Amino acid sequence: MKVAFFSFGACEGCRYRIVNEFAKIAALLEKYGIEITREPLLGVKTEKNYDVAIIEGAVTSLDIERVKEIRRKAKFLIALGSCAFLGGIATLGYKYGVQADEYLKKGYSLGVPLHQIVKVDGYVRGCPASVGELINVLEEIAVTESISKYERRFEYEKQTDLVLDDGFLRLDTSKCIVCGRCIELCSKINANVLTQAFRGYRVIVTTPAQNSFLEAGCIRCGLCAAYCPVAAITYRNDVEAALKTAKNGGQVVIERQAVEATAEALGIKPGQVIPLLKTLGFSKVEIVNPLSLIDTEKTGIVPYSSAEKRLVKQVFPEASKYLLEYPKLSLDNDTVLVTVCVARKEDHSPVLTVHELVGLARDMLITFKDLPEERLESKNNDCNVKIAKGPEEVKAAVHDFLSNPKGIVILQICPGGCAKGSGLYFPILNDY
Ligand code: SF4
Ligand code: SF4
Repeated sequence: MKVAFFSFGACEGCRYRIVNEFAKIAALLEKYGIEITREPLLGVKTEKNYDVAIIEGAVTSLDIERVKEIRRKAKFLIALGSCAFLGGIATLGYKYGVQADEYLKKGYSLGVPLHQIVKVDGYVRGCPASVGELINVLEEIAVTESISKYERRFEYEKQTDLVLDDGFLRLDTSKCIVCGRCIELCSKINANVLTQAFRGYRVIVTTPAQNSFLEAGCIRCGLCAAYCPVAAITYRNDVEAALKTAKNGGQVVIERQAVEATAEALGIKPGQVIPLLKTLGFSKVEIVNPLSLIDTEKTGIVPYSSAEKRLVKQVFPEASKYLLEYPKLSLDNDTVLVTVCVARKEDHSPVLTVHELVGLARDMLITFKDLPEERLESKNNDCNVKIAKGPEEVKAAVHDFLSNPKGIVILQICPGGCAKGSGLYFPILNDY
């Protein structure tokens, strides 16, 4: 069996994912004697012979004849990923009233899902496409010389207007292309807040029973928003408010960890971060370490955000009496907080995450190497407290605390790093 890959209106992310995970496909190729006769990303460019054509991307008006030719030569035609399957990002504009004619006059081309131009035999979902589904569909063709499953499950053109918004997270289902990334990420951290609802063409991404994010168990990690390819999920953005504060001569308070993370992300020295903030317009910069504000004379459990507080109350009600508050910085509205953690947006406004600060600094084309370096205070002002990270450690720590209530335990249900929010390394995201 000979297989050829083709790409049209898309970012090529589906094919890059396949190449990145090629080891998973190699065994299948060997087992069934499948040969790839076209995949430029693998350096294979012949395309004369193929039984299976796999097409990535929405078909633009410039590509119609080429797609029809591919269809004529192929025994099976597979739509790979959300753009080929549903139109994906390439067609979002039409839905939001873009006047296509104006764009066509300027030389742009229309994009449509593959099935609107030619007959499609099989579909591989995802943005980027699922390698597992591709393996399944190829194996079925190799074994049965037919495709019985993998029908289209839903139409991109569906109408849905459900919006879930709690002031921190906002999910606008009308923008969602049902790529499934948010569901996968949320389940990887065991929060399982997001799921699919309804069937067939009515399928949408939502919380179970359309509950609020917090009721559904959201831990405010922000991963879903950071990795949604079409901004159907977003978290509150205070960038405008922060810039206005800076312009009016306001102050900024930055967490010590955020200084290190900003420096790492921009490739500058930590001592240059304070001049960077002053360049943005802030009149005064203060570095804080919230952990040093914890009263270590006390005994108790300190939840990092409302998520841990809720978990203790629900799962360990007997530990509720030991709950203390995470040291909230008392900041006025003329002070911007820069933090590594998206969840801090629950405590204050305006807040900039390190990710937002780094983007802002890059957008303003600041020449980083020219920034002077200021001396920072010693960073050894952490208090000696135990921090439990991730759902399992958190549960074990509360359990241990209850059997011997002594000292301070900080609970951080998020496994550390974060949602591109901090720019810190987050190992589970390696697949993305
Ligand atoms: S913020 Fe995190 S926990 Fe909440 S819905 Fe998004 S991925 Fe899930
Ligand atoms: S909300 Fe975004 S990440 Fe989630 S399925 Fe929809 S498009 Fe994909």
